Formats: sequence, structure tokens, C-alpha cells
Amino acid sequence: MEYEVVIGLEIHAELDTRSKIYCGCTTEFGGEPNTHCCPICTGMPGVLPVLNKTVVEYAVRAGLAANCAISSFSKQDRKNYFYPDLPKAYQTSQYDLPLCKNGYLEIEVDGSVKKIGITRIHIEEDAGKLIHDESGKVSYVDYNRCGVPLIEIVTEPDMRSSAEVKAFFEKLKSILEYTSVSDCKMQEGSLRADVNLSVRPKGQKEFGTRTEIKNLNSVRAIVRAVDGEARRQISVLERNGVIVQETRRWDDEKGESYSMRDKEEAHDYRYFPEPDLTPVVVDEAWLDKIRSSIPELPDERRKRFIAEYGIPAYDAAFITGSKPLADFFEAAAKESKNAKAISNWIMGDVMKKLNDTGLEPLDMPIKPESLSRLVSLIDENVISGKIAKQVFEIMWDTGEDPADIVEKEGLKVVTDTEEIRSIVIQVISANPKSVEDYKSGKTKAIGFLVGQIMRETKGKADPQAVNRLLKEELDKL
Ligand code: ADP
Ligand code: MG
Ligand code: ZN
Repeated sequence: MEYEVVIGLEIHAELDTRSKIYCGCTTEFGGEPNTHCCPICTGMPGVLPVLNKTVVEYAVRAGLAANCAISSFSKQDRKNYFYPDLPKAYQTSQYDLPLCKNGYLEIEVDGSVKKIGITRIHIEEDAGKLIHDESGKVSYVDYNRCGVPLIEIVTEPDMRSSAEVKAFFEKLKSILEYTSVSDCKMQEGSLRADVNLSVRPKGQKEFGTRTEIKNLNSVRAIVRAVDGEARRQISVLERNGVIVQETRRWDDEKGESYSMRDKEEAHDYRYFPEPDLTPVVVDEAWLDKIRSSIPELPDERRKRFIAEYGIPAYDAAFITGSKPLADFFEAAAKESKNAKAISNWIMGDVMKKLNDTGLEPLDMPIKPESLSRLVSLIDENVISGKIAKQVFEIMWDTGEDPADIVEKEGLKVVTDTEEIRSIVIQVISANPKSVEDYKSGKTKAIGFLVGQIMRETKGKADPQAVNRLLKEELDKL
């Protein structure tokens, strides 16, 4: 039997506000445990929360960018559960009246465009973090993250494969970056996803029973969890088993999910309206103001890059997928005559460096002007493409200007023909065997001689000049 996979996502994004959602404490990541806290975010009795207006603004911005309807009237609710990382014993969230609803994003997979529905986007607060001691005897709690503002984005069960999930997630991430709603640093937990997944026989109308895999914090883990859980469910059904609706955890090292079978997960959250906070009212004037603050979004920017910089559609889609990369590209391309070369460097060497170092594009140690100068140095034949890779490495490590690096390290292409000629002559006299081979018709020998000359000049000799002079000198013999 053939099965169809059905997936809906719940995504949490930490908002990039300076202060927390209900108090003035910093939202900065890290810090000594329990130093970014006050009586409000640690849930002391008798305190009164006050909603951070910027939280509403950012959530509305995300909602507008995701084609949602914005509620002029919404409210906040208490979601009650007892857990050590939640000092109030309830999370302030939104239940029946979310701030944004009924949106969608378009994704493109294998050349076809598809709309993925967004059920709702609501605001809520983050919880703290538990640190379990290696002894297994004690756990510590860090409340720095308590009260960091979040939006939760819930999609319709519209996705049918891990490729669609990946495309949707990346699209959403880029939109949150473009609107500056979240820094989306997944390794810092700023963006995390829960995967809801079921399978059904192809052609069946009703959905199958779903499971939920919580807290995935990399695109790779999301993709692997979707594929792994789909495989698991299909194999259960094929053995005539039943899928239990439950929360599961994904072990990315083992590549499998396991049931949390946690009684605490069988929740009745006893939601009720938060009595300490007034309803959230977004009037037309405010909404217009927020709407006008939405910048050019990835789809528009992609089309503009193709038109304005003449780069291929593939390049434009890749680069505009990340706002910091797109900003970097645009700043570099503006100063350059060779936008395609800039795009090649970004998709090649820059991406490789980012992957190898685990850095986010936002934290890139080189300046866009430096990359465009590097490209000019190659185009003006000041350095060879091979040397440019060396210069790029140094630029990355030191942040220095490429022209300064070339000067300091003496990396300029040697075009002085007399200098090259003397090396040619030297190499010819040091390799009589190859010269003999060449003379007897083994033209391959010339490659070896060129290699020797390039080695003598540490790759800096102008290859065209080398070839020309070498032939000249050989013909003289
Ligand atoms: P809850 O509020 O209990 O978490 P919802 O019904 O609101 O559950 O759904 C949460 C997520 O699960 C949504 O993203 C939704 O699209 C998805 N979902 C719901 N039913 C299914 C299903 N049968 N298969 C896959 N995903 C589903
Ligand atoms: Mg859920
Ligand atoms: Zn606080």
C-alpha cells in the first residue's frame, strides 16, 4: 500500500526585543544564571506584569508578512502547568483570541508553488532552562530566559513531505529575519519547531492519528525527524499496529524518535483569561504604521536581484533566502562590476566558511566591500583565482582589506616578462629530461614544466605569459 504523509508545524520564535514581555529585564542570550531576572519574571507573588508594546508590534509585523488577518481585539490567557522551569506555574499565552490568524506562505518545491496555511500566530512568554547535573542527583534552574517574548506560529496540516517542511520552515525563517522580528539563531534556541505528523493510505480522506515531536532546533533535525517518524508510523501500520497520539522526542544522534510517555504530558491546561493584563487592542492607525514598516520581503527581493544585478534565478533564490546574506550580497554587488562573481563567492567559499565555523551570516567577519575588492583584484588580473582563495582565508581571519593583504604578502601576479623568462630558463635547464620528451613530441611534458614554473613563483606568475615564454624558450633550443 502507498501512504501519504501529513505534517503541520508549531514554531516558536523568540522576538528580538531588548526587554522581556512583562518586565524591563534584558532578553540577551546567555549571561550568568539568574542575573537577567526580577520579581516579575521570576513570578513572585503580588507583582503586576505590563505588556511590552514592541512585542505586539513585532508579532503583528510577522502576521502581516505571513498574510494573516490581524485581530483588532485579542487577549492573553493563563496556561497552567507545573514545571520547575516555569516559576509562576502558568505560562501567559493566548488561547481563543490570538493576535493573528488565517495566513499563508507560498513555497516552491520541485518547480511547483504551493500555499501552506497558517492557522494562527500568538504571543506568549518563554520559560527558563533546567540544567541537569552529571551526577544525576541534582538539577539547577536558570530563569534568565523566563519572560523572553515568543510568538508561536501554528500551521494547517498542509505539508506532505520533508522537502515541503524544509521549504516552509526556511521561508518562514527568512520572513522573520527580513522583518527583524527574530534573530532566528537556532543554535541559541531563538527558533524551534514541533512537528505534528500522521500518515494515511493514499486516497483516504480522513487524517490518520498524529504524533508530535517537540523542540527540534535545526533544519537538519526537522527534516530527519519528519522522514524518521513517517517511516516509523508506516511500519507500525504495515504490521497492523495502531498509532498512539503522543508526544515524542527526536534523538538526532540515533536517528529515531522515542515516546516521552510522560504523565505530565497528558495536560489539562485549565486556560483562563489573564486577570492582570488588559486586552490587546490594535487600532487602524497603529496597524497602518506597522504595515508601513514592513520592508521588501524575500520574494520581491529575489525578483529584483535577477532584474537589477543580472544574477541567475537559482543564485537569487539562494541568496535572498537569508536576509543577512542578501544584505551582504547587495552591499558588495553595488560596488562591483561583477555581481555574478560576488554571488559565486557567497554561495561557494563564504557558505563553506560559515558551515565550517558554525557562524551565522549575521556574524560574518568580512565586510561586503572587501569581497567586492577581492573580485576586482581578480578581474583586473592583479591576483590569480587561486591566490584569491588564499587572500580570502586571510581576510576571513583578520578582517583586513584584500589589497593590503596582497601588498603585504607579496601575492601580486608576476607579469614582468623578464622576471618570468629568467625562471623559465632556469626550469628548462634544471629539467633536461622533460625538455627532451617535449622535443621528441611528448607534448604532455609541457604541463610538468609549467607546474615547475608556477611552483617557483608560488603560483603568482601570469599563466598566459608562462605558456608563451616557455614555448618561445623551448623553440630556441
Ligand atoms: P493542539 O492544540 O492539541 O496542539 P491542533 O489540533 O491545534 O492541536 O494542531 C496542532 C498542530 O498539529 C497543527 O500544526 C496542525 O496542523 C497539526 N495537525 C493536526 N492534526 C494533524 C494530523 N492528523 N496530522 C498531522 N498534523 C496534524
Ligand atoms: Mg500542540
Ligand atoms: Zn524581569
